[in-house]
Amino acid sequence: MVPSSTLKVDLRKLILLLTIVSVLITLTNTLYSIYKVQRDLLINKTMESNQVYARKMAETTDTFIESAQEQLAFSAQRLGAYMADESQLMAETDRLRRQTKTFNSVVVINAEGTIVAVSPETLQVKGVRLTSENSMQSLQAKRPLVTDPFISPAGNYLISISHPIFSAQGKYLGYISGSIYLEKKNILSDILGKHSYQDGSYLYVVDRNKTLIYHPDPSRIGQVIENNNAINYVLSGNQGSMNMVNSLGIDMLAGFSPVEQTGWGVVAQRPKIKTLSELNEQMVAVFVTTIPVGLLTLAGIWISAAFISRPLWQLAREVKTLEHDDTVEQIQRIRSWYFETAQLKAAITKCLGMMTSKISQLDTDSHTDPMTCLLNRRGMLKALDAFSDTRQGFSVIAIDIDRFKQVNDTYGHDVGDRVIVTVADLMQAHARTEDILCRSGGEEFLIFLTDTSLEHTFDIAERLRETISAHDISPVGKITVSIGLAHCSGDPDHVHETIKQADYALYEAKSNGRNCTVRYNEKLPTES
Ligand code: GH3
Ligand code: MG
Ligand code: MG
Repeated sequence: MVPSSTLKVDLRKLILLLTIVSVLITLTNTLYSIYKVQRDLLINKTMESNQVYARKMAETTDTFIESAQEQLAFSAQRLGAYMADESQLMAETDRLRRQTKTFNSVVVINAEGTIVAVSPETLQVKGVRLTSENSMQSLQAKRPLVTDPFISPAGNYLISISHPIFSAQGKYLGYISGSIYLEKKNILSDILGKHSYQDGSYLYVVDRNKTLIYHPDPSRIGQVIENNNAINYVLSGNQGSMNMVNSLGIDMLAGFSPVEQTGWGVVAQRPKIKTLSELNEQMVAVFVTTIPVGLLTLAGIWISAAFISRPLWQLAREVKTLEHDDTVEQIQRIRSWYFETAQLKAAITKCLGMMTSKISQLDTDSHTDPMTCLLNRRGMLKALDAFSDTRQGFSVIAIDIDRFKQVNDTYGHDVGDRVIVTVADLMQAHARTEDILCRSGGEEFLIFLTDTSLEHTFDIAERLRETISAHDISPVGKITVSIGLAHCSGDPDHVHETIKQADYALYEAKSNGRNCTVRYNEKLPTES
């Protein structure tokens, strides 16, 4: 199983993650805000421009109707005097149709509803009597009129613009009518179709009964459009714009305006989806534009994160491997360039210093006799190990206070302790710095002298013994010690044996009456 500590993310990755998340949230928020504002703006602009366009087209249509009616009025006035003259009627209808190209056909109808002149003649409707309700509209109105769409006797789906003909005496003689064939090329489609856009926007015109009289798709002309709010509004005489769903279920941005003279409605519209697709492309472009700077920012953050986390990471690594001897030096080398890491570094260094001195204190304590401050047995064994390792030659002085039990018995244990400490102090005072002094038992001591011959050691031991015996220890007075000596040439196998030999010599000194120094010799017992 992987230890949990290795699964933890490090500071650098955390900083990076945090920044990436923040940048992404900010970027998304910004892009969304731009999108929303632009979207509303685009929708409003599209509806506004569609409304302006619809109004312009409505005005153009109005102007056209007005001019068509003026032309018919002129002809009607002329024909008032020639109603009985067939050739004049023919000439006038022909002139009107050919001269202006406003109408697909021109007819004159007498007061009884019979067609008396027609241009072009190819229609062959001369003499035909009108019967249908729609074709009778103009006859009955006896005033200038734009009819609803109807099918003419010649079979054309058309609207007609008519003007009544009166005699000089004011008698109603019939009317002259110009027709616009809705399903064929006509002046209306010429005017309205001029401005077809490539961007999916288009324009259509409905009459006051919601019948399509112009549409870019000719197959839809003549359809009645229900459930279209823009048409409902425009046919109520309103101009404006709206976002609505058309009769085919397509979401449209529509502008509309009524044609005042006829009660028609002009609607200019564009599918919303087409309007917004441009914006989507723009947003992709904005996003793509931000990528290089975004990547540079990320690289900057990556480097900064490394820079910030580096001292902490280094501190963590050093603390993790505390067992290395050079940990403190390594920590000192870390460049803690900001407050927190500087504090941490100082704290860790201080802790490590305290820990080291505590450990060394404990080490010293564990090797030292607290009463005399000489090495204890453990300290002595460590020193002997060092002798063995280095094959160091040495002499041993084994010291035992004479009749110490009596001191304790006479003066008490505390005074006995003081005597032990005094003897240790005298040993210290006589010792060289390189000598190793131990309290090996209650009132027994060992001194190790490196590179010292047994003879020289004897002199040293004797001087020490004499010093101790001359020293007055209150209230005990003078005490004596017995001393045994031995020498080791440096053979590791004889280190411990040498101490035993010094002990034997000491026993010998005790046997010899105490307060004397005895060197180990072959007559004394030996391990081997
Ligand atoms: P000898 O001359 O044969 O050495 O006689 P001795 O009385 O010194 O020998 P013995 O070994 O019988 O007595 C040693 C005494 O030292 C016994 C013990 O009570 C005493 N002693 C050992 N350690 C301490 C200590 O730390 N403090 C005190 N006050 N007495 C101790
Ligand atoms: Mg003893
Ligand atoms: Mg003793």
